[in-house]
Amino acid sequence: MSETKTVRRASGRCLCGAVAYEIDGPLRDVVNCHCGQCLRTHGNFASYTNAARGDLSLTESRGLTWYESSRLARRGFCATCGASLFWERKDSGTISVAAGTLDPPTNLNTAAHIFVADKGDYYEIADGLKTYPASMSKV
Ligand SMILES: [Zn+2]
Ligand SMILES: [Zn+2]
Repeated sequence: MSETKTVRRASGRCLCGAVAYEIDGPLRDVVNCHCGQCLRTHGNFASYTNAARGDLSLTESRGLTWYESSRLARRGFCATCGASLFWERKDSGTISVAAGTLDPPTNLNTAAHIFVADKGDYYEIADGLKTYPASMSKV
């Protein structure tokens, strides 16, 4: 995997602006998740960076709604425009942030693909990045 960039500060928002955030701390390289839940909630595979939960502050949260997507995790989306922004594993101390919601330039790179066993059958992964059948931790 490529080296984690030392992006120290970032901001982002949903399409309509009813959810906006700032991150004051390092961001992980982007990982593309091809799991069935991401396909259904993002409409395609999802590209997430990750940050310490304590480094993320919401500067606008009037649209933010949480969906309990499993016993282990919840997904944060904007109830006004429908944007998917966050994936949070409970008690992990970290939060995954949909990379496309970051304000450009992100200065991030994409490092890997996960849950490729569940990927859609309508596209191929041909960028040469590392792939994992499920999560990276289960390899
Ligand atoms: Zn919105
Ligand atoms: Zn996923």
